[in-house]
Parts: sequence; structure tokens; C-alpha cells
Amino acid sequence: MIDLLRANDPATGFPASWYADTCALPAPRPPLDGDRQVDVAIIGAGFTGLNAALTLAEAGLTPLVIEARQAGWGASGRNGGQVCSGYNKSQRWLEKRLGADTARALWGLCEAGKSRLRDQIDTLAPEASYKSGIAHGSLTARDFEHEKRDAEHLATAYGYDQIDVREAADFQSILRSPLYHGGTIDRGAGHIHPLRLVLALARAAEAAGAHIVEDTEVQAITPGAPIRVHTPTGTVTAQHLIVAGNGYLPRLSNRYAARVLPVNSFIGATAPLGNRAADVLADDIASADSSHVVNYLRLSEDTRLLFGGRANYSHRFPNDIGSRLQARIAEMFPQIADVPLDYTWGGTLGVTMTRLPWISRLAPEIYTAGGYSGHGVALSGIAGHTMAQAILGQAKAFDTFARLPAGRLPLGPYGRGPVLSLGMAWYALRDRLGL
Ligand SMILES: Cc1cc2nc3c(=O)[nH]c(=O)nc-3n(C[C@H](O)[C@H](O)[C@H](O)COP(=O)(O)OP(=O)(O)OC[C@H]3O[C@@H](n4cnc5c(N)ncnc54)[C@H](O)[C@@H]3O)c2cc1C
Repeated sequence: MIDLLRANDPATGFPASWYADTCALPAPRPPLDGDRQVDVAIIGAGFTGLNAALTLAEAGLTPLVIEARQAGWGASGRNGGQVCSGYNKSQRWLEKRLGADTARALWGLCEAGKSRLRDQIDTLAPEASYKSGIAHGSLTARDFEHEKRDAEHLATAYGYDQIDVREAADFQSILRSPLYHGGTIDRGAGHIHPLRLVLALARAAEAAGAHIVEDTEVQAITPGAPIRVHTPTGTVTAQHLIVAGNGYLPRLSNRYAARVLPVNSFIGATAPLGNRAADVLADDIASADSSHVVNYLRLSEDTRLLFGGRANYSHRFPNDIGSRLQARIAEMFPQIADVPLDYTWGGTLGVTMTRLPWISRLAPEIYTAGGYSGHGVALSGIAGHTMAQAILGQAKAFDTFARLPAGRLPLGPYGRGPVLSLGMAWYALRDRLGL
């Protein structure tokens, strides 16, 4: 297994991206220097870890966030920015598997996650500019039938009336690609500039009393009371630990490695489209679709198309990210096939076998959340918050999240390589055959 914290990105600083070019990037914080004793240690300064730190600090604790690179360097600072509703499985699926009450409580947590994020943007990071609306395109007639039934179910059983169902012509008048058989527009979902949000969260957590050390990789954890967290420049002793390394986490725990798979996803930003932006999206909403390897896109504030469209499971980024993304853009939007990509970048996210997050205890007083499977912008903040609440003695929301069945790889922690390759080949084949 290669070192995902280093293999695909420059040795220092943030990876080059349109996001990094449109942010005031902070100077690095100093690494851990010697041994420390704290109430709560947190591994990873992305949305999950920083939200946990913020909640704990606001409650009067002094959490220590240990980050291998820089706060916001991981998936939280380079994603598609889509704040989705719900989970990667429908509420109908969750009801069948977990019962109506748990499914409803889980839906409530996701809605709370979206509200939390919108409040944070209002109060901490207006520059991350939340915009409402995500279109979801159906690539087959069967996908569209599912989509319609899910929207209807959310309206009748959950009172969620934010979703418009649109037949093909109507849908294509907004998302101007001939590929879709119809789709939905969810006005209760939205999109943001994620790097601006995660940088603001780091500042807010510190202002509330949290400490963040950077350039400090956790290399081993010794469970117990207290827990010991080992890094090259010191050992942290803590009563509680939150493991929030998500897709980037090296093999620190076999239980974790048996459930959360690292997957790479890639984004390209075109040159500014100017007036031609409306030829792609007639509204300033984001879009995703029913492909197994989802095509996701939105417009930037300077009228670029930010297009994410392919995944790779081999851990190392390919060297033709741009040409493949551009080919996919040309297929979906022939009208802008001539526009070059000014930026391309990739990142690593965590996915699980069921494509539902894994939120659990690794050992007494060691909490973890990850594997959001592409829904982490909305879910990771609330997951971090609920782990902090559990440490503060209110575990109800955490226990609800912990009921999500994330599944275990057939070969456990040793299945990451083979299972990834097989799974990827299978899903790519299904997409090609339209299954
Ligand atoms: C290209 C791309 C597009 C995406 N698009 C979307 C989208 O549009 N919508 C959506 O909902 N989700 C999307 N996601 C997923 C989303 O970004 C993640 O689910 C979310 O950011 C997870 O946040 P996190 O804090 O758990 O993990 P991260 O943001 O990855 O943070 C983990 C941090 O832990 C650190 N770390 C790991 N191991 C160690 C260690 N041993 N010691 C110290 N530090 C460590 C890493 O350096 C990293 O900074 C996308 C992801 C990618 C990569």
C-alpha cells in the first residue's frame, strides 16, 4: 500500500487547484514538539476533525488536532463542493434495512448536517458562498423511475418538498447535456467553495481554544486508559481519541482498514466560459448523476466549469487526468469541447462497501468517522460534531449514526487492493452496459 499522504501531491503546501488559487492560504502551523497530555486528541484536520475540535473547544475542552500535512489539505479542501441531501442509499433502502424509525433519525441527522454547514458559512465563512440547488440526472429510463419514486417518498413520508422532478426536455433546459432521460433538482441541497470553509473552520476551532499541530503524522495508536498516540516528534497521551483521517489514513487500525477504502477522484476546471456558461448550466446549481462513477459539476464564481468525472482505485494518480476529463466533458457537453482545462487535480476520499459512512468506536474511547462515499461535505461536519458530543456525554446521535451498515471487505484489511480493482472493473462495466 503506497503512502497516500505523500504519493500524489507536492511534498509541502497545498496541491495546486482552482480552489487553492482563489483562497488566502495560511502559513503552516508548527509540528508537535515533544510529549503532550490532553483530554482529547484528534487525528486529521478536515471537516470531520475540525468540527469535532470546534464542538469540544466550545464546550470548554482543549482538544489537540494532529495533522500530517496542513489543515484543509485533504479531501475537504479539494472536493466538488456539493452539499448533498441524504445518503448514498435511498431512505426506502434504509427503512427496509434498519426500520422506519432509525431511517427517519438518520435522515434528520443529515438535514442537521446541512443546516450546521449553512450556519457555519453564514457565521464563519461567508466567502465559501453557499448556493442552493443540485440537479441529479438519470442516465437511463430505469434510473429516472427510481429517482421519481425516491422524490415522491421523501415528500410524502418525510415532508421534504424541495425536490422538483423534471422530464428529459425540461431537465435538459437547465443541464444542457443530451445524455439524460430526465432528473430532479433538489433546492434543499447546494454547493460551496470547500477550501474556504475548511480554512475558516480551522481558524474558528483555534479561536474557540483548540490546538492544531501540522506536519505531524500519527504513526501508531496504543489503546488503553490513557490512549497513546505516537508521532515522530512526540507522544500524545489522551483520555479520548477521534480518528478523522478518512481516505488518507495509513494502516493504523485493521478494523478501519477493513471498512474504509481509499479512492481517488479527479476534477478539472475549464478556462472561464463567460456567456457560454449558460450553454452548460442555465442556473447556478451543481449537478451529479446516476453513473456508478458519478459525473459531478458546477460553475465557479469566475464562470469555469468545475467537472469531476472519473475515479481511480489504484492509489496512484494517473498522468492523463486532464485528457480523460476533457473527453468526458466533450461527450456530455459537445458545445464546449473546444474549451481547454486550466486546472486539474485529484484527491482521495473514503468509501465503504455499502457506500454508507462508517461511524463507530475502534476501542473504548476511540471514535472514528469516515467512508462518507461522496456525501462527506454535508455529513462529515455533523459526524465530527456527534463524536464530540459522545465524548461530552451525549451519545444519542452518535449511536444512531453507528447503526449505518458500512460492511466489511471480504478479505478484511488485506482486501483493499484486489477488492478495489475488481469492484472498479465491475462498476465501470455496468456503466458501459447501462445496467
Ligand atoms: C476530488 C473529490 C471530490 C469530492 N466531491 C465531493 C462532493 O462534491 N460532495 C461531497 O459530499 N463529498 C465529496 N468528496 C468527499 C469529501 O471531500 C469528503 O468526504 C470529506 O471532505 C471528508 O472529510 P474528512 O475530514 O473526513 O477527511 P479529509 O478532508 O480527507 O481529512 C483527513 C485529514 O487527515 C489527515 N491525516 C490522515 N492520516 C493522518 C495521520 N496518520 N496523522 C495525521 N493526519 C492524518 C490528512 O492529511 C487529512 O488532512 C470529494 C472528495 C474528493 C477527493
